[in-house]
Amino acid sequence: MTEAQNPLTPSSVSMTTPTTSNLPTPKRALAIGAHPDDVDFSCGATLAKWAADECQVSVLVCTDGSKGTWDPDADTQQLIAQRQDEQRAAAKALGATGEVAFLGWPDGELESATKQRSQVAYWIRKLKPDVVIGHDPWKQYRLHPDHRHAGWLTVDGVVAARDPKFFPEHGLPHHRPDSLLLFEAESPDHFEEVDGFLEPKLAALMSHRSQFETTMKTDGTPDGDGALQGAALAEFRSRMQEKLEVAGRANGIVQAEVFKLIDDL
Ligand SMILES: [Zn+2]
Repeated sequence: MTEAQNPLTPSSVSMTTPTTSNLPTPKRALAIGAHPDDVDFSCGATLAKWAADECQVSVLVCTDGSKGTWDPDADTQQLIAQRQDEQRAAAKALGATGEVAFLGWPDGELESATKQRSQVAYWIRKLKPDVVIGHDPWKQYRLHPDHRHAGWLTVDGVVAARDPKFFPEHGLPHHRPDSLLLFEAESPDHFEEVDGFLEPKLAALMSHRSQFETTMKTDGTPDGDGALQGAALAEFRSRMQEKLEVAGRANGIVQAEVFKLIDDL
């Protein structure tokens, strides 16, 4: 049976969503990540592009990042403090001028329950972003539970922030963002052109010095100042550049970050 003959797939109905690109630069954007470094990896170039165009970029991190080490003897409180400092430095490297906030839930144990949803909705109401960016909770076979839960908190937090009967104890006006962008998307249908913004993204990622060994999988030895150097830095740079270029080529441009766009909020 051809598609035209099948009554379930009328030929006049498109089964795929057209891809969109380049949202107008928001006045305010809020990126929500499970751990320090997630937003820099997933949408750092987009945030840097908007920041360069006078968008007030803020970052909300759901967990304390306290399991981000392969050293069982690492001092947990010291690691938490270091990772917060690293996230603040990373936001600065992107040119972000908004808040860098931490919910502080234990790494690996994030839940997407009412309490956490209230916290995310609070920050959305407080910061009033036009665009919210976060993990796609519908991504199949996602391994890390914090990424799943942070995705749900982002989506559900937008709904709660939008409707005035949710969490009146915030004492803040409800707020409806214009757009929600989901990174690591199961079905990406939107790209942001990011030519020229690899450098601030790299600079942000280089701020997460505690993560060179674990997340960034670089085997180079940091120099005395803790910065990545030499071949390890070159390898990491080319890996990040390749990622932007693969996404760019798929969309007929040079470099891109891709998302699922939800703008019916
Ligand atoms: Zn993460």
